[in-house]
Amino acid sequence: MALAEPGPETTSWTGWEAVARESASRQLVAANWKMNLFRAEAVAFCSGLLDRLPADAPQVAIFPSFPLIPIVASELLGSDIVVGGQDLHPEPKGAHTGDVAGLQLVDAGAGWVLCGHSERRHDHGESDALVGRKMRSAFISGLTPLLCVGETAEERQAGQTFEVLARQLEGALGASLPDIPTLPRFALAYEPVWAIGTGKVADSATVSEAHLFLRRELSRRVGEEAAEPVSIVYGGSVTAENAFDLAAADGVDGFLVGGASLDLDRFLSIISPFGRTT
Ligand code: PEP
Repeated sequence: MALAEPGPETTSWTGWEAVARESASRQLVAANWKMNLFRAEAVAFCSGLLDRLPADAPQVAIFPSFPLIPIVASELLGSDIVVGGQDLHPEPKGAHTGDVAGLQLVDAGAGWVLCGHSERRHDHGESDALVGRKMRSAFISGLTPLLCVGETAEERQAGQTFEVLARQLEGALGASLPDIPTLPRFALAYEPVWAIGTGKVADSATVSEAHLFLRRELSRRVGEEAAEPVSIVYGGSVTAENAFDLAAADGVDGFLVGGASLDLDRFLSIISPFGRTT
């Protein structure tokens, strides 16, 4: 059954013009290694990835834990594969023990950063407002944020999926975009919380419905032309077995992969439905 969409009110976040992108492709497959892997494993993964990634592969991004960023960045130097942090602090520097600033990520070799991952929202109590401040910090630092949004099982059962997605988008972008003069690059990940690390993958129809909603919401706010180059990827128990079906779902530009990204063979299989030329 189709979920009810939230009301028609539209917030226009800013008045910039769409910026032409170098790559026409929105396809993106990202690995979120979470708190896994050691240096030797990361090096072996990167060297295998460089050897085996096909020439027509989509944009690939690796999000290792902080200590691995310089190693992964150095291994992948000169390739098209990008490296990102899994989080950043909203402030540019200061007394924030255990946190990492956007420019420190850049200094370590990262070009991207995850914002609003559900494990951060859940484990660290990150609010929509905090995610918005982190997005702003990412933009100011010159990082490309991959913003994660998604509903819990309870929210879906209560018919609140679209409301939650709209609220998370508003919290993350409404607070960060208005004072940025030109539209910065960013990507979205639809990650239903109930599908992350659970093996309960969302079916293609559910995924499509959410992706098409997110693109409509984005277009309503920033304009169709500006929304067009934004990749919207799916995350939640993607495996080598379900990747082809999910990749074919309307509105899916790629994946954010957790568990299955730790194994190179599986990760390559998950990338394989996508290609720059398809
Ligand atoms: C994630 O953590 O972003 C994720 C999608 O994890 P998994 O693929 O393990 O569900």
